[in-house]
Amino acid sequence: MFRRTGLWLLLAALVILGDCRSASPPPARRLNLLLVTIDTLRADRLGCYGYSQIETPNLDQLARRGVLFENAVAPAPLTAPSHASMMTGVYPTVHKVRNTGGFMLSPANTTLASILQGQGWDTAAFIGSSVLKRRYGLNQGFAIYDDQMPTSASGSALEEPERRAGEVVDRAVQWLQTQSGKPFFLWVHVYDPHIPYDPPSPFREKYRDRPYDGEIAYTDQQLGRLFDAVAGKSKPEETLIAVLSDHGESFSEHGEYTHGIFLYDTTLRIAFLMAGGGLPGGVRVKQQARTIDLLPTVLELTGGKAPPGTQGTSLAPAFRGNEVPTAYSYSETLFPKLNMGWAETRAIRTNRWKYILAPKPELYDLEKDPAESANVIASHPAEVQELAAQLKAISGTTEKVAPAAEDPRTMQQLKSLGYLGGSSPQELTGKGTDPKDRIEVLRLLHLAVHSGAPMPERIAMLRRAIAQDPDNPTLYNNLGNLYAEAGRPADAMKLYQDALQRGVHTAWLFSRVGSLYLRQGNKAEAIRHFEIAVRLNPSDYESMQNLAVAYRETGRIADCERILNAILKSGEEFAPAYNELGMTAFQKGDVAAAQQYFEKAARLDPTYQLNLGRFYKMAGDNPRARAAFEAFLAARSSSAEYQRMIPEVRKELAAVQ
Ligand SMILES: [Zn+2]
Repeated sequence: MFRRTGLWLLLAALVILGDCRSASPPPARRLNLLLVTIDTLRADRLGCYGYSQIETPNLDQLARRGVLFENAVAPAPLTAPSHASMMTGVYPTVHKVRNTGGFMLSPANTTLASILQGQGWDTAAFIGSSVLKRRYGLNQGFAIYDDQMPTSASGSALEEPERRAGEVVDRAVQWLQTQSGKPFFLWVHVYDPHIPYDPPSPFREKYRDRPYDGEIAYTDQQLGRLFDAVAGKSKPEETLIAVLSDHGESFSEHGEYTHGIFLYDTTLRIAFLMAGGGLPGGVRVKQQARTIDLLPTVLELTGGKAPPGTQGTSLAPAFRGNEVPTAYSYSETLFPKLNMGWAETRAIRTNRWKYILAPKPELYDLEKDPAESANVIASHPAEVQELAAQLKAISGTTEKVAPAAEDPRTMQQLKSLGYLGGSSPQELTGKGTDPKDRIEVLRLLHLAVHSGAPMPERIAMLRRAIAQDPDNPTLYNNLGNLYAEAGRPADAMKLYQDALQRGVHTAWLFSRVGSLYLRQGNKAEAIRHFEIAVRLNPSDYESMQNLAVAYRETGRIADCERILNAILKSGEEFAPAYNELGMTAFQKGDVAAAQQYFEKAARLDPTYQLNLGRFYKMAGDNPRARAAFEAFLAARSSSAEYQRMIPEVRKELAAVQ
């Protein structure tokens, strides 16, 4: 099984030598690293993990060339926390990215990218979904962080903007071609298997009844192009490739449809492959492997050392069949608490047992019952005691998680708006509604959002769910979306106001009420609500942007610019902010600056070509106005607002011919 004994002896010698010399030795080995993360990929849907009904030749070949971890697990069934653990080698309790959205990876963390960059590696990341945008801090250590999503301006409220694997791989391959000589760390994140499942042709037809599988097969095909490009750039023994999923997908098992609610293996188990860089081929590791082990493993292979405080361990000894200290894997999900108003849950997993700490705790014997169908907690008190002690060592049972400060000013603002008794920010106690007792609510929510039933039925389903679970923010969010889709803004406003009066105080609700006030022209109320939304969630750039617009329209130019500059300070190329700075500059009479901002916004997002065209038209520059209007019409955004504008823009184009 293990063929490259010579290399391992050499590596071991280098590590010992490094230890003798200094605390942080320079990297002994120049090793390129390609990290591919595949969102929402269940391990058991890949050929190399034993699934016979799919074609994933590129990942299967990678597994044959290298190491496959049969029992790999994520520390959270959520995109941002799971990725943050890969990048830092610590659990979410330490890196503090506890949920997707609203939490930012603080610069106090040390990331794999920043370590390698510090040692002279070229670093670049290409991201497939807005849920990992720069604002969430995972860009730390990446010289290039390409997170530009298509037509972000006003897409559907129901979906996070994403781009297909083909486009992400194109961008990554382009970057690879500019590489000359320095070792590199390239991270490619592909989002396709995430809901909605809509693979492009020919996978759409080939996997007609299994679109999720179709997304995976398509992703595999695109990754084949990426692997070829990497092979063209660097020799296999000089290139380490790691492929991981961030979490799985539940497909109605345990009453869950997607991921984030429960800590079962449907969503915690992941695919984890490593190959190249001198690793042995055809190795299958049965010992549990955790995503926090990625960073120490990579650093050992490059001859470096994991920083102090790393909770993961190098998996390299397991390649030779040696024991690694990965027996216990911690996981948590705060999604039930923060998004649904229920209790958060935590778990400890070993290769044999899973102990879930919930209001009604659970224990599963994974060897006898891999489907986790029989809770055997009553018959195994000794195991429970031991696992509970392990869990307690990693995570206390009470703590405060406040994405934003519960500062007196926010409380005063809430009070002045008449919203009392709010539940944000959150205190974790492990108490509250057990997510297992809300299966019917999950079912109604899923059907209302994804079933394609007629609108009145979907609305009725969510009404029923709210009657059963009236403090659940996600239900209000989704019903509000349906009202918006159905053209019923007054019903949406009443719904949100009811929720706020009940004490359901999420940033999202304040933001929606602000937007509705803005539509009514009530700028003062819009500002009051957006200000709270922004304080509760400082990564909500969309609300910040709306707040900036409302400030400008009420003559508060300095406040407007302050907010926009705060967005752009993060380094994220947020097109709406550039457009709005253009409006502000124009209002102040600074035409040259306005032009620059409008051009920048239009370069980032072609739907802003409209404003640019109008600007040129006003300046009497008809040829440029024409080009901009044409670029707008060629943008082909699917957003309703864009579609509505098209006839008007055609008229404007005709006027400048
Ligand atoms: Zn994910």
